[in-house]
Amino acid sequence: MLQEVHVGHKSLADYQSMVVKPLVEEIRELAEALKGMRVLHINATSFGGGVAEILYTLVPLMRDVGLDADWRVIMAAQEFYESTKLMHNALQGNPQGLNKAQQDIYEEQSRLATESLGGGFDFIIVHDPQPLLLRHFAGDLGAKWIWRCHIDTSSPNPELARYMLPFVQLYDAAIFSMDKYVFEGLDIPIKVYMPAIDPLSTKNMVLSPEDADYVVSQFGVEPGPPLLLQVSRFDPWKDPLGVIDAYRLVKKEFASVQLALVGSMATDDPEGWAFFTKTVEHAGDDGDVLILSNLNNVGNLEVNAFQARADVVIQKSIREGFGLTVSEALWKVKPTVGGNVGGIPQQIREGETGFLVDSVDQCAERCMWILDHPEEARNMGRAGKEHVRANFLMPRVLRDYLRLFSELTK
Ligand code: UDP
Repeated sequence: MLQEVHVGHKSLADYQSMVVKPLVEEIRELAEALKGMRVLHINATSFGGGVAEILYTLVPLMRDVGLDADWRVIMAAQEFYESTKLMHNALQGNPQGLNKAQQDIYEEQSRLATESLGGGFDFIIVHDPQPLLLRHFAGDLGAKWIWRCHIDTSSPNPELARYMLPFVQLYDAAIFSMDKYVFEGLDIPIKVYMPAIDPLSTKNMVLSPEDADYVVSQFGVEPGPPLLLQVSRFDPWKDPLGVIDAYRLVKKEFASVQLALVGSMATDDPEGWAFFTKTVEHAGDDGDVLILSNLNNVGNLEVNAFQARADVVIQKSIREGFGLTVSEALWKVKPTVGGNVGGIPQQIREGETGFLVDSVDQCAERCMWILDHPEEARNMGRAGKEHVRANFLMPRVLRDYLRLFSELTK
């Protein structure tokens, strides 16, 4: 089944003062020719993770510029998500792919979901592998179909890539976040667009230091001592265990340092719980380590407060499609330490807008340098914010889609 997600209202005019002027002009011009066209976004979850984050802003902005845009989520049996999580991991390089039974579940559930799709769309944008097969089962329905892959597919499990290729090939275009993620052998129009953040969302709007302190103090963060932070799903690829190890090294030099690991439980991520427990066990009974999730009522505003309060933001991923959390931190002028993978190096320019690391030791070293050099670190944060302003704010993503729609309509 496909379930509608309700989104609030947003207006492009509100973003005008934050992005460069020609961008807004180009959006208005492109939108003029596309007015009234029906656009449907489909993904696997309305909560948790970067795709949902983007769609909550992109869909209302598309509506604001005159498109008839909607968002639906694929709702399927639990085994479907077990199969698609395996796919997700295999696309990011895990050797374990799907067996025949898991493929059958994936295909059957996709077919069932297609039954509630309906018709009359001009563009259908399918995000990530979970709803990929809808195009195969639905036929083209007179729409242009776009597959938007958000994950790091630079070295996928070859067997799984072979299985998926013919399904992707049915699309009118595909979008990847980086050149190196483009599937080998794919022979349809391809675009490389990076994601972006919403500077006006509750997650990214400006919070005063006092408000941020107040919010995080309710979760046990002490106001004085330094705070290291990682915000991400509890997922091995995000390496929260490595973050705890790096924190322990920092703790040897900065005895009062605190660590917060903030991670939501996405509904399409059955592994989340097991890995959450593993992370809690790894932290042991250290009272300066806080492990929080949406189940502790950490919503967007709280994530914002943690990011605003942090002295160092870490995103120590081992694989990463893009890593919206990095742009979120840079936007808040935070010195940021990120794994040198996926889209992180696009956001962190080594030594200029933050630091890139390949190991626990390096991560700890960079955190300590930042704590020792607050002035220099702040300047890095400032450079980071301007880099995000120029490249990673949502109106640019809107422009990218409108450009693609006009190309596909010609
Ligand atoms: N996020 C959140 N609460 C959490 C953990 C993550 O709101 O407890 C958000 C985070 O702020 C970011 C998104 O989820 O906006 C994660 O996107 P990213 O691209 O970093 O990673 P993904 O989860 O898509 O792999």
